Amino acid sequence: MSWLTEFVRPKIRNLFARREVPENLWHQCPACQQMIFHRDLALNLKVCPHCGHHMRGSATERLTWTFDEGSYIRIELPKVPADPLRFRDSKRYSDRLKEARDKTHLDDALVVAHGKLGGHQAVVAAMEFEFMGGSMGAAVGEGIVAAARLAVLQEAPLIVFTASGGARMQEGAISLMQMPRTVIATRLVKEAGLPFIVVLTDPTTGGVTASFAMLGDIQIAEPGALIGFAGARVIEQTVREKLPEGFQRAEYLHEHGILDMVVKRTELKDTLARLIGLLRVKELPAAA
Ligand SMILES: [Zn+2]
Repeated sequence: MSWLTEFVRPKIRNLFARREVPENLWHQCPACQQMIFHRDLALNLKVCPHCGHHMRGSATERLTWTFDEGSYIRIELPKVPADPLRFRDSKRYSDRLKEARDKTHLDDALVVAHGKLGGHQAVVAAMEFEFMGGSMGAAVGEGIVAAARLAVLQEAPLIVFTASGGARMQEGAISLMQMPRTVIATRLVKEAGLPFIVVLTDPTTGGVTASFAMLGDIQIAEPGALIGFAGARVIEQTVREKLPEGFQRAEYLHEHGILDMVVKRTELKDTLARLIGLLRVKELPAAA
């Protein structure tokens, strides 16, 4: 620590901090820089009313936005061994987990719930990007398996909202083993003849893209979502070519046949309800 970092830097920071808008009332859109009332932003499901930019939603917000009247029942997910490798980088993995739990009030980066969606029974699993970048370790893998089992038990479709940086490096090979595990989970749902729908949200990358996130019967993404396996810079360096404009964005992937549709968040719930209705023809006689 020098005089420069200890004394001068905080002074400079204060100089700028004063100009910031109070966080509790307004939110600045990172895309168009316009100011939005927090309440308006919440009413618009965290989509900028000026430019349509989709801001990230938390796992629990996803559930509220998706289920009828925002009401659902969360299930408890299987407990997994904490820090199996006793991993440590600049911090202990166990400390990182504790921090993430305090920050998000979740046990890990996945939440699973069931309830009604457009009047149909549905199981929804939502990933939490704020929990260690939505990384997939044993807890997320077990959670996806639990969600698939619940869908089969309830004869309900499974909908997964993805948001992940990929595998959780602190769990090493155990994290990688979740890729085949979650793939098997999707098979359980499909073999039971139930719809499996994936909604890719910003960002979905790495081992999650390389496993269950790309196996939906229907692949949906939110506008502008970053979806890919490796980062654009890594690919550019490997292929030594400039990548096209909008590469790895939802719209580009849709144009190139990787996705079935790009749906605005405000239309997502109705789209999901319609799809379930179309795919679950079996339900119709009972409903009539
Ligand atoms: Zn905006």
